[in-house]
Amino acid sequence: MQHSSRQLIDNLYCYLWQGRGNNCNTYLLANVLRGKRPHIIIDPGCSVNELREPCFDSLLLSMQGDGFKIEDIGLIINTHTHPDHCAATEVIVQRSGQEGGKDKINQALVALSSEEEEYYRTMGGRLFSMMGLKAPQFEPFIYLVEGDLSLGKEKKINLQILHTPGHSPGSISIYWPDNKVLITGDVVFYGSVGRTDFPGGSITVLKQSIEKLSRLEVEYLLPGHSTEYGSIIEGKERVELNFKAVRFII
Ligand SMILES: [Zn+2]
Repeated sequence: MQHSSRQLIDNLYCYLWQGRGNNCNTYLLANVLRGKRPHIIIDPGCSVNELREPCFDSLLLSMQGDGFKIEDIGLIINTHTHPDHCAATEVIVQRSGQEGGKDKINQALVALSSEEEEYYRTMGGRLFSMMGLKAPQFEPFIYLVEGDLSLGKEKKINLQILHTPGHSPGSISIYWPDNKVLITGDVVFYGSVGRTDFPGGSITVLKQSIEKLSRLEVEYLLPGHSTEYGSIIEGKERVELNFKAVRFII
């Protein structure tokens, strides 16, 4: 296994990528949806990366170790559509639901921002072919917009979506106010920020997004990648210090 698994708080599991090649960290909100498929997965990552490391198989094994099955995922949230974050989305949709997911109604639903879908359908999707990868096919069911994520009347979890472009045009971050958890995708990392040299990136826009996130009260900042400084930033003071530090590098 090339992920290290960690239950951070109730219902929140972190699968931090430890392999040599590129892949993102994946986060699982467990047992938070009603119905048969109660888990939300955020950024499932690569299927196989540029070094042929079996990223998705590693994720499956790590999740199994915590008692979770891919078939029990009801919602896939993609913070953005770069290959190292969303490539495994198609596999999860196919494998989810009953009877191998043949029945569309029983498949896991995909959520991302409409700005990001537009980007994916145009220049973003070309990143896959540039990297020699096949772009995954998926149909978004939910377009994420700024504000509360509506998960039904009897929802078990309150999540807020923040539009945080700059690394890619439709990037979103996810804030869980009850536990002061912030999942940032590739906007901000431990001691670093997301690159802006991919098509559709903008350093000016990224700065604005980082400023926006820095105004939230955060105990746990969960980034899309680990850096030499670490992965998860824990504690309000450390998070604030990190926002101060990254202002110097952008
Ligand atoms: Zn990215």
